[in-house]
Amino acid sequence: MKHYSAFAVAREALRSHTGWERAWRSPEPKKRYDVIIVGAGGHGLATAYYLGKNYGIQNVAIIEKGWLGGGNTGRNTTIIRSNYLQDPSAAIYEKSRSLYEHLSQDLNYNLMFSPRGVIMLAQTHHEVRGYQRTAHANALQGVSTEWIGPQRVKELVPIINLEGPRYPVLGGLWQERGGTARHDAVAWGYARACSAMGMDIIQKCEVTGVRSDQGRVVGVDTAKGAIECEKLGIVVAGHSGQLAEMAGFRLPLEAVALQALVSEPIKPCMDVVVMANTVHGYMSQSDKGEMVIGGGTDGFNNFTQRGSFHHIEETVRALVETFPMISRLKMLRQWGGIVDMTGDRSPILSKTPLGNCFINCGWGTGGFKAIPGSGWGMAQLMATGHSPLTEAFTLDRFKEGRFIDESVAAGVAH
Ligand SMILES: Cc1cc2nc3c(=O)[nH]c(=O)nc-3n(C[C@H](O)[C@H](O)[C@H](O)COP(=O)(O)OP(=O)(O)OC[C@H]3O[C@@H](n4cnc5c(N)ncnc54)[C@H](O)[C@@H]3O)c2cc1C
Repeated sequence: MKHYSAFAVAREALRSHTGWERAWRSPEPKKRYDVIIVGAGGHGLATAYYLGKNYGIQNVAIIEKGWLGGGNTGRNTTIIRSNYLQDPSAAIYEKSRSLYEHLSQDLNYNLMFSPRGVIMLAQTHHEVRGYQRTAHANALQGVSTEWIGPQRVKELVPIINLEGPRYPVLGGLWQERGGTARHDAVAWGYARACSAMGMDIIQKCEVTGVRSDQGRVVGVDTAKGAIECEKLGIVVAGHSGQLAEMAGFRLPLEAVALQALVSEPIKPCMDVVVMANTVHGYMSQSDKGEMVIGGGTDGFNNFTQRGSFHHIEETVRALVETFPMISRLKMLRQWGGIVDMTGDRSPILSKTPLGNCFINCGWGTGGFKAIPGSGWGMAQLMATGHSPLTEAFTLDRFKEGRFIDESVAAGVAH
Protein backbone atom coordinates (compact mmCIF):
# COMPACT_ATOMS: atom_id res chain seq x y z
CA MET A 1 0.00 0.00 0.00
CA LYS A 2 1.44 3.35 -1.01
CA HIS A 3 1.72 5.91 1.78
CA TYR A 4 -0.57 8.96 1.45
CA SER A 5 1.29 12.19 2.19
CA ALA A 6 1.61 15.80 1.07
CA PHE A 7 4.63 14.70 -0.95
CA ALA A 8 2.56 11.97 -2.70
CA VAL A 9 -0.16 14.51 -3.57
CA ALA A 10 2.45 16.87 -5.07
CA ARG A 11 4.12 14.02 -6.99
CA GLU A 12 0.81 12.83 -8.43
CA ALA A 13 -0.19 16.37 -9.36
CA LEU A 14 2.95 16.56 -11.49
CA ARG A 15 2.15 13.32 -13.33
CA SER A 16 -1.58 13.85 -13.93
CA HIS A 17 -2.63 11.55 -11.07
CA THR A 18 -1.68 8.40 -12.96
CA GLY A 19 0.19 6.77 -10.08
CA TRP A 20 -2.59 6.27 -7.53
CA GLU A 21 -3.47 2.66 -6.86
CA ARG A 22 -6.86 1.26 -5.82
CA ALA A 23 -7.47 1.81 -2.13
CA TRP A 24 -8.55 -1.81 -1.58
CA ARG A 25 -8.60 -5.02 -3.60
CA SER A 26 -11.84 -6.71 -4.75
CA PRO A 27 -10.93 -10.42 -4.55
CA GLU A 28 -13.05 -13.52 -5.04
CA PRO A 29 -13.61 -15.39 -1.77
CA LYS A 30 -11.22 -18.15 -0.71
CA LYS A 31 -12.58 -21.51 0.42
CA ARG A 32 -11.63 -20.95 4.06
CA TYR A 33 -10.69 -18.16 6.48
CA ASP A 34 -9.68 -18.07 10.13
CA VAL A 35 -12.29 -15.36 10.73
CA ILE A 36 -15.29 -14.20 8.74
CA ILE A 37 -16.91 -10.90 9.61
CA VAL A 38 -20.39 -10.39 8.14
CA GLY A 39 -21.01 -6.71 7.40
CA ALA A 40 -18.55 -4.17 6.00
CA GLY A 41 -19.85 -1.23 8.01
CA GLY A 42 -17.57 0.68 10.35
CA HIS A 43 -17.91 -1.82 13.20
CA GLY A 44 -17.18 -4.87 11.03
CA LEU A 45 -14.19 -3.24 9.34
CA ALA A 46 -12.79 -1.91 12.63
CA THR A 47 -13.13 -5.37 14.19
CA ALA A 48 -11.18 -6.87 11.29
CA TYR A 49 -8.54 -4.13 11.45
CA TYR A 50 -7.81 -4.60 15.17
CA LEU A 51 -7.83 -8.42 14.77
CA GLY A 52 -4.99 -7.94 12.32
CA LYS A 53 -3.20 -5.08 14.02
CA ASN A 54 -3.48 -6.15 17.67
CA TYR A 55 -3.56 -9.95 17.38
CA GLY A 56 -1.88 -10.77 14.04
CA ILE A 57 -5.01 -12.54 12.74
CA GLN A 58 -4.99 -11.58 9.07
CA ASN A 59 -6.59 -14.52 7.27
CA VAL A 60 -9.89 -12.65 7.50
CA ALA A 61 -12.79 -12.03 5.12
CA ILE A 62 -15.27 -9.20 5.55
CA ILE A 63 -18.42 -10.13 3.62
CA GLU A 64 -20.84 -7.41 2.59
CA LYS A 65 -24.14 -7.75 0.78
CA GLY A 66 -24.05 -4.24 -0.69
CA TRP A 67 -21.07 -1.90 -0.85
CA LEU A 68 -18.75 -1.18 2.04
CA GLY A 69 -19.97 1.66 4.24
CA GLY A 70 -23.34 1.62 2.46
CA GLY A 71 -25.31 0.81 5.61
CA ASN A 72 -25.70 3.10 8.59
CA THR A 73 -22.01 3.96 8.57
CA GLY A 74 -22.48 6.00 5.39
CA ARG A 75 -25.87 7.40 6.45
CA ASN A 76 -25.29 8.90 9.86
CA THR A 77 -24.88 12.46 11.05
CA THR A 78 -21.34 11.75 12.37
CA ILE A 79 -21.66 12.98 15.96
CA ILE A 80 -18.84 11.77 18.19
CA ARG A 81 -19.04 12.09 21.99
CA SER A 82 -18.53 9.94 25.07
CA ASN A 83 -20.70 11.65 27.72
CA TYR A 84 -22.67 8.55 28.73
CA LEU A 85 -23.88 7.86 32.25
CA GLN A 86 -22.99 4.27 33.09
CA ASP A 87 -19.37 3.17 33.67
CA PRO A 88 -19.19 0.44 30.98
CA SER A 89 -20.62 2.84 28.39
CA ALA A 90 -18.28 5.68 29.33
CA ALA A 91 -15.35 3.23 29.07
CA ILE A 92 -16.08 2.01 25.54
CA TYR A 93 -17.26 5.37 24.14
CA GLU A 94 -14.29 7.22 25.64
CA LYS A 95 -11.87 4.58 24.33
CA SER A 96 -13.46 5.19 20.96
CA ARG A 97 -13.31 8.97 21.16
CA SER A 98 -9.68 8.84 22.20
CA LEU A 99 -8.84 6.48 19.30
CA TYR A 100 -10.53 8.95 16.91
CA GLU A 101 -8.05 11.64 18.03
CA HIS A 102 -5.19 9.87 16.19
CA LEU A 103 -7.05 7.55 13.82
CA SER A 104 -6.19 9.51 10.66
CA GLN A 105 -2.49 9.06 11.42
CA ASP A 106 -2.97 5.42 12.45
CA LEU A 107 -4.83 4.53 9.22
CA ASN A 108 -2.88 6.99 7.05
CA TYR A 109 -6.25 8.24 5.82
CA ASN A 110 -7.75 11.67 6.47
CA LEU A 111 -10.96 11.06 8.44
CA MET A 112 -11.54 14.81 8.85
CA PHE A 113 -11.95 14.31 12.60
CA SER A 114 -13.18 17.64 13.93
CA PRO A 115 -13.32 17.87 17.74
CA ARG A 116 -15.37 21.04 17.59
CA GLY A 117 -17.40 20.33 20.75
CA VAL A 118 -20.88 18.97 21.38
CA ILE A 119 -23.62 20.56 23.53
CA MET A 120 -26.67 18.65 24.71
CA LEU A 121 -29.20 21.31 25.61
CA ALA A 122 -31.20 21.06 28.84
CA GLN A 123 -34.67 22.54 28.31
CA THR A 124 -36.55 21.11 31.31
CA HIS A 125 -35.62 20.93 35.00
CA HIS A 126 -35.59 17.18 34.67
CA GLU A 127 -32.94 17.45 31.97
CA VAL A 128 -30.92 19.91 34.06
CA ARG A 129 -30.74 17.37 36.90
CA GLY A 130 -30.05 14.52 34.46
CA TYR A 131 -27.14 16.27 32.73
CA GLN A 132 -25.64 17.60 35.96
CA ARG A 133 -25.67 14.01 37.20
CA THR A 134 -23.97 12.87 33.98
CA ALA A 135 -21.32 15.58 34.33
CA HIS A 136 -20.54 14.32 37.87
CA ALA A 137 -20.47 10.70 36.68
CA ASN A 138 -18.17 11.66 33.79
CA ALA A 139 -15.79 13.40 36.22
CA LEU A 140 -15.49 10.14 38.16
CA GLN A 141 -15.01 8.15 34.93
CA GLY A 142 -12.26 10.44 33.62
CA VAL A 143 -14.42 11.69 30.75
CA SER A 144 -13.99 15.41 30.26
CA THR A 145 -17.44 17.11 30.22
CA GLU A 146 -18.87 20.19 31.85
CA TRP A 147 -22.27 21.57 32.86
CA ILE A 148 -22.64 25.08 31.37
CA GLY A 149 -25.26 27.79 31.91
CA PRO A 150 -27.37 29.53 29.25
CA GLN A 151 -24.99 32.47 28.76
CA ARG A 152 -22.09 30.15 27.97
CA VAL A 153 -24.39 28.27 25.56
CA LYS A 154 -25.11 31.57 23.80
CA GLU A 155 -21.39 32.40 23.59
CA LEU A 156 -20.70 29.03 21.98
CA VAL A 157 -23.74 29.17 19.66
CA PRO A 158 -24.60 32.80 18.84
CA ILE A 159 -27.44 31.73 16.50
CA ILE A 160 -29.34 29.93 19.26
CA ASN A 161 -32.65 31.22 20.61
CA LEU A 162 -32.48 30.84 24.40
CA GLU A 163 -36.16 31.76 24.81
CA GLY A 164 -37.82 29.06 22.73
CA PRO A 165 -41.61 29.33 22.36
CA ARG A 166 -42.10 26.04 24.15
CA TYR A 167 -38.95 25.43 26.21
CA PRO A 168 -36.24 27.90 27.27
CA VAL A 169 -32.60 26.81 27.19
CA LEU A 170 -31.60 26.26 30.84
CA GLY A 171 -28.03 25.15 30.17
CA GLY A 172 -26.28 22.22 28.62
CA LEU A 173 -23.85 19.33 28.93
CA TRP A 174 -20.73 20.40 27.02
CA GLN A 175 -18.04 18.03 25.77
CA GLU A 176 -15.27 20.13 24.30
CA ARG A 177 -13.43 17.25 22.57
CA GLY A 178 -16.58 15.74 21.08
CA GLY A 179 -17.31 16.56 17.45
CA THR A 180 -17.62 14.96 14.04
CA ALA A 181 -15.64 12.96 11.44
CA ARG A 182 -16.26 12.14 7.78
CA HIS A 183 -18.31 8.92 7.98
CA ASP A 184 -17.40 7.40 4.57
CA ALA A 185 -13.75 8.07 5.25
CA VAL A 186 -13.93 6.03 8.45
CA ALA A 187 -15.17 3.03 6.46
CA TRP A 188 -12.74 3.66 3.60
CA GLY A 189 -9.76 4.18 5.91
CA TYR A 190 -10.34 0.93 7.79
CA ALA A 191 -11.06 -0.92 4.50
CA ARG A 192 -7.81 0.25 2.94
CA ALA A 193 -5.82 -0.75 6.01
CA CYS A 194 -7.53 -4.18 6.18
CA SER A 195 -6.88 -4.82 2.50
CA ALA A 196 -3.24 -3.83 2.94
CA MET A 197 -2.91 -6.52 5.64
CA GLY A 198 -4.11 -9.10 3.07
CA MET A 199 -7.68 -9.33 4.30
CA ASP A 200 -10.40 -9.92 1.69
CA ILE A 201 -13.30 -7.45 1.52
CA ILE A 202 -15.97 -9.19 -0.53
CA GLN A 203 -18.73 -6.83 -1.62
CA LYS A 204 -22.07 -7.63 -3.30
CA CYS A 205 -22.07 -11.00 -1.54
CA GLU A 206 -25.02 -11.56 0.77
CA VAL A 207 -24.68 -14.09 3.58
CA THR A 208 -27.74 -16.33 3.32
CA GLY A 209 -27.02 -19.03 5.89
CA VAL A 210 -24.82 -19.91 8.85
CA ARG A 211 -23.36 -23.45 8.89
CA SER A 212 -22.77 -25.23 12.17
CA ASP A 213 -21.69 -28.65 13.37
CA GLN A 214 -22.17 -29.92 16.93
CA GLY A 215 -23.01 -26.48 18.27
CA ARG A 216 -20.07 -24.67 16.66
CA VAL A 217 -19.99 -22.45 13.62
CA VAL A 218 -18.12 -23.92 10.63
CA GLY A 219 -18.92 -21.46 7.84
CA VAL A 220 -21.46 -19.41 5.96
CA ASP A 221 -23.51 -19.74 2.80
CA THR A 222 -23.22 -16.72 0.54
CA ALA A 223 -24.27 -15.47 -2.87
CA LYS A 224 -20.79 -16.59 -4.00
CA GLY A 225 -21.00 -20.08 -2.46
CA ALA A 226 -20.16 -21.65 0.88
CA ILE A 227 -17.11 -20.34 2.79
CA GLU A 228 -15.60 -22.10 5.81
CA CYS A 229 -14.32 -20.33 8.90
CA GLU A 230 -12.96 -20.98 12.36
CA LYS A 231 -14.72 -17.98 13.93
CA LEU A 232 -17.63 -15.83 12.81
CA GLY A 233 -18.44 -12.24 13.74
CA ILE A 234 -21.93 -10.95 12.92
CA VAL A 235 -21.81 -7.15 12.61
CA VAL A 236 -24.83 -6.15 10.53
CA ALA A 237 -26.67 -3.47 12.60
CA GLY A 238 -30.35 -3.37 11.53
CA HIS A 239 -30.16 -6.85 9.99
CA SER A 240 -28.84 -8.57 13.11
CA GLY A 241 -32.15 -10.32 13.78
CA GLN A 242 -32.03 -12.07 10.40
CA LEU A 243 -28.43 -13.23 10.83
CA ALA A 244 -29.14 -14.42 14.37
CA GLU A 245 -32.08 -16.43 13.05
CA MET A 246 -29.74 -18.07 10.50
CA ALA A 247 -27.40 -18.94 13.38
CA GLY A 248 -30.28 -20.34 15.44
CA PHE A 249 -30.77 -17.80 18.24
CA ARG A 250 -32.91 -14.74 18.91
CA LEU A 251 -31.91 -11.19 19.82
CA PRO A 252 -33.75 -8.66 22.01
CA LEU A 253 -33.69 -6.05 19.24
CA GLU A 254 -36.03 -3.97 17.14
CA ALA A 255 -35.17 -2.66 13.67
CA VAL A 256 -36.47 0.85 12.96
CA ALA A 257 -35.65 3.58 10.46
CA LEU A 258 -33.77 6.66 11.63
CA GLN A 259 -33.79 9.67 9.33
CA ALA A 260 -31.61 12.66 8.62
CA LEU A 261 -31.51 15.56 6.16
CA VAL A 262 -29.17 18.29 4.96
CA SER A 263 -29.82 21.85 3.85
CA GLU A 264 -28.32 23.79 1.00
CA PRO A 265 -24.78 25.01 1.87
CA ILE A 266 -24.51 28.37 3.61
CA LYS A 267 -21.65 30.45 5.06
CA PRO A 268 -20.20 29.23 8.36
CA CYS A 269 -22.66 30.04 11.15
CA MET A 270 -22.24 27.36 13.82
CA ASP A 271 -18.97 25.69 14.76
CA VAL A 272 -20.20 23.25 17.41
CA VAL A 273 -22.71 20.37 17.38
CA VAL A 274 -26.01 21.10 19.16
CA MET A 275 -28.49 18.48 20.30
CA ALA A 276 -31.91 19.61 21.53
CA ASN A 277 -33.40 16.50 23.02
CA THR A 278 -36.63 17.91 24.46
CA VAL A 279 -37.83 19.48 21.23
CA HIS A 280 -36.28 16.55 19.34
CA GLY A 281 -33.71 17.67 16.83
CA TYR A 282 -29.99 18.23 16.44
CA MET A 283 -27.79 20.11 14.02
CA SER A 284 -24.20 20.69 12.96
CA GLN A 285 -22.61 22.37 9.95
CA SER A 286 -20.60 20.30 7.51
CA ASP A 287 -17.33 21.47 5.99
CA LYS A 288 -19.25 22.12 2.76
CA GLY A 289 -21.58 24.47 4.65
CA GLU A 290 -24.69 22.27 4.69
CA MET A 291 -26.64 22.16 7.93
CA VAL A 292 -26.74 18.46 8.91
CA ILE A 293 -29.99 17.75 10.70
CA GLY A 294 -31.41 14.73 12.47
CA GLY A 295 -34.30 13.80 14.66
CA GLY A 296 -35.85 10.70 16.17
CA THR A 297 -36.66 7.22 14.95
CA ASP A 298 -39.79 5.96 13.24
CA GLY A 299 -42.29 4.66 15.76
CA PHE A 300 -42.71 1.33 13.98
CA ASN A 301 -40.51 -1.50 12.70
CA ASN A 302 -39.46 -1.29 9.07
CA PHE A 303 -36.57 -1.83 6.66
CA THR A 304 -37.04 1.12 4.30
CA GLN A 305 -33.92 3.24 4.05
CA ARG A 306 -35.71 6.45 3.13
CA GLY A 307 -37.19 9.56 4.66
CA SER A 308 -40.75 10.68 5.27
CA PHE A 309 -42.48 14.06 5.31
CA HIS A 310 -43.78 13.45 8.81
CA HIS A 311 -40.22 13.36 10.16
CA ILE A 312 -38.96 16.38 8.23
CA GLU A 313 -41.85 18.40 9.56
CA GLU A 314 -41.35 17.36 13.18
CA THR A 315 -37.57 17.77 13.15
CA VAL A 316 -37.50 21.05 11.25
CA ARG A 317 -40.18 22.50 13.55
CA ALA A 318 -37.97 21.67 16.55
CA LEU A 319 -34.90 23.27 14.99
CA VAL A 320 -36.64 26.38 13.71
CA GLU A 321 -37.70 27.23 17.23
CA THR A 322 -34.15 26.61 18.48
CA PHE A 323 -32.41 28.40 15.58
CA PRO A 324 -34.96 30.79 13.97
CA MET A 325 -32.41 31.89 11.33
CA ILE A 326 -32.70 28.53 9.52
CA SER A 327 -36.39 29.03 8.77
CA ARG A 328 -35.74 30.07 5.16
CA LEU A 329 -33.17 27.42 4.34
CA LYS A 330 -33.95 24.99 1.54
CA MET A 331 -33.52 21.33 2.31
CA LEU A 332 -31.44 19.34 -0.18
CA ARG A 333 -31.59 15.66 0.68
CA GLN A 334 -33.24 13.31 3.15
CA TRP A 335 -32.54 9.64 3.82
CA GLY A 336 -32.91 6.86 6.38
CA GLY A 337 -30.93 3.97 7.84
CA ILE A 338 -32.11 0.87 9.67
CA VAL A 339 -30.94 0.94 13.27
CA ASP A 340 -30.96 -1.90 15.80
CA MET A 341 -32.45 -0.80 19.11
CA THR A 342 -32.13 -2.66 22.40
CA GLY A 343 -34.45 -2.03 25.36
CA ASP A 344 -31.71 -0.45 27.51
CA ARG A 345 -30.29 1.56 24.57
CA SER A 346 -26.90 -0.11 24.98
CA PRO A 347 -25.10 -2.36 22.50
CA ILE A 348 -24.51 -6.09 22.51
CA LEU A 349 -20.89 -7.29 22.06
CA SER A 350 -21.01 -10.88 23.00
CA LYS A 351 -20.43 -14.57 22.55
CA THR A 352 -23.59 -16.30 21.35
CA PRO A 353 -25.26 -19.67 22.00
CA LEU A 354 -23.44 -20.93 18.87
CA GLY A 355 -19.80 -21.77 19.63
CA ASN A 356 -17.19 -19.44 18.07
CA CYS A 357 -19.94 -17.17 16.75
CA PHE A 358 -19.80 -13.60 18.11
CA ILE A 359 -22.20 -10.72 17.69
CA ASN A 360 -21.74 -6.95 17.69
CA CYS A 361 -25.01 -5.05 17.36
CA GLY A 362 -27.54 -2.90 19.20
CA TRP A 363 -25.70 0.39 18.64
CA GLY A 364 -29.04 1.79 17.62
CA THR A 365 -28.98 5.46 16.81
CA GLY A 366 -25.51 6.16 18.19
CA GLY A 367 -22.86 3.73 17.02
CA PHE A 368 -20.80 5.84 14.62
CA LYS A 369 -18.95 7.41 17.52
CA ALA A 370 -18.21 3.94 18.89
CA ILE A 371 -16.63 2.39 15.80
CA PRO A 372 -12.94 2.38 16.87
CA GLY A 373 -13.63 1.37 20.49
CA SER A 374 -16.13 -1.29 19.48
CA GLY A 375 -13.73 -2.74 16.91
CA TRP A 376 -10.94 -2.74 19.50
CA GLY A 377 -13.06 -4.56 22.11
CA MET A 378 -14.72 -6.94 19.66
CA ALA A 379 -11.34 -7.97 18.22
CA GLN A 380 -10.07 -8.67 21.72
CA LEU A 381 -13.19 -10.71 22.52
CA MET A 382 -12.90 -12.73 19.30
CA ALA A 383 -9.15 -13.28 19.60
CA THR A 384 -8.87 -14.05 23.32
CA GLY A 385 -12.42 -14.87 24.47
CA HIS A 386 -12.54 -11.89 26.85
CA SER A 387 -12.40 -8.10 26.74
CA PRO A 388 -12.80 -5.67 29.66
CA LEU A 389 -14.39 -3.23 27.20
CA THR A 390 -17.18 -5.61 26.20
CA GLU A 391 -17.75 -7.71 29.33
CA ALA A 392 -20.82 -5.78 30.51
CA PHE A 393 -22.46 -5.86 27.08
CA THR A 394 -23.24 -9.58 26.89
CA LEU A 395 -26.42 -11.09 25.56
CA ASP A 396 -27.01 -12.69 28.98
CA ARG A 397 -27.71 -9.33 30.57
CA PHE A 398 -31.23 -9.38 29.17
CA LYS A 399 -31.93 -12.72 30.88
CA GLU A 400 -30.22 -11.71 34.11
CA GLY A 401 -31.70 -8.20 34.35
CA ARG A 402 -28.31 -6.42 34.28
CA PHE A 403 -29.48 -3.61 32.03
CA ILE A 404 -27.14 -0.74 31.17
CA ASP A 405 -29.73 1.99 30.98
CA GLU A 406 -28.57 4.75 28.63
CA SER A 407 -31.96 6.09 27.61
CA VAL A 408 -31.02 9.58 28.85
CA ALA A 409 -27.57 9.64 27.26
CA ALA A 410 -28.96 8.24 24.00
CA GLY A 411 -31.06 11.43 24.01
CA VAL A 412 -32.93 12.49 20.93
CA ALA A 413 -30.95 9.98 19.01
CA HIS A 414 -27.20 10.09 19.20
C1 LIG B 1 -29.78 8.79 10.01
C2 LIG B 1 -28.80 8.26 11.00
C3 LIG B 1 -28.07 9.13 11.78
C4 LIG B 1 -27.15 8.65 12.70
N1 LIG B 1 -26.38 9.56 13.39
C5 LIG B 1 -25.41 9.12 14.23
C6 LIG B 1 -24.55 10.06 14.86
O1 LIG B 1 -24.64 11.27 14.66
N2 LIG B 1 -23.61 9.58 15.71
C7 LIG B 1 -23.47 8.25 15.96
O2 LIG B 1 -22.61 7.90 16.78
N3 LIG B 1 -24.25 7.33 15.34
C8 LIG B 1 -25.21 7.73 14.48
N4 LIG B 1 -26.01 6.83 13.83
C9 LIG B 1 -25.86 5.40 14.12
C10 LIG B 1 -24.69 4.80 13.38
O3 LIG B 1 -24.77 5.15 12.01
C11 LIG B 1 -24.69 3.28 13.51
O4 LIG B 1 -24.80 2.89 14.86
C12 LIG B 1 -23.40 2.69 12.96
O5 LIG B 1 -23.08 3.22 11.71
C13 LIG B 1 -23.55 1.19 12.85
O6 LIG B 1 -22.44 0.69 12.15
P1 LIG B 1 -22.38 -0.83 11.76
O7 LIG B 1 -21.07 -1.07 11.14
O8 LIG B 1 -22.77 -1.66 12.94
O9 LIG B 1 -23.59 -1.01 10.73
P2 LIG B 1 -23.73 -0.68 9.17
O10 LIG B 1 -22.89 0.47 8.78
O11 LIG B 1 -25.20 -0.61 8.89
O12 LIG B 1 -23.09 -1.95 8.51
C14 LIG B 1 -23.72 -3.22 8.50
C15 LIG B 1 -23.50 -3.82 7.14
O13 LIG B 1 -23.99 -5.17 7.15
C16 LIG B 1 -24.44 -5.44 5.84
N5 LIG B 1 -25.31 -6.62 5.86
C17 LIG B 1 -26.55 -6.74 6.38
N6 LIG B 1 -27.04 -7.98 6.18
C18 LIG B 1 -26.06 -8.66 5.51
C19 LIG B 1 -25.96 -10.00 5.01
N7 LIG B 1 -26.96 -10.88 5.14
N8 LIG B 1 -24.83 -10.37 4.36
C20 LIG B 1 -23.79 -9.49 4.22
N9 LIG B 1 -23.84 -8.21 4.68
C21 LIG B 1 -24.95 -7.81 5.31
C22 LIG B 1 -25.17 -4.16 5.43
O14 LIG B 1 -25.29 -4.07 4.03
C23 LIG B 1 -24.26 -3.09 6.04
O15 LIG B 1 -23.34 -2.56 5.11
C24 LIG B 1 -26.96 7.26 12.89
C25 LIG B 1 -27.68 6.37 12.10
C26 LIG B 1 -28.59 6.86 11.14
C27 LIG B 1 -29.33 5.89 10.29
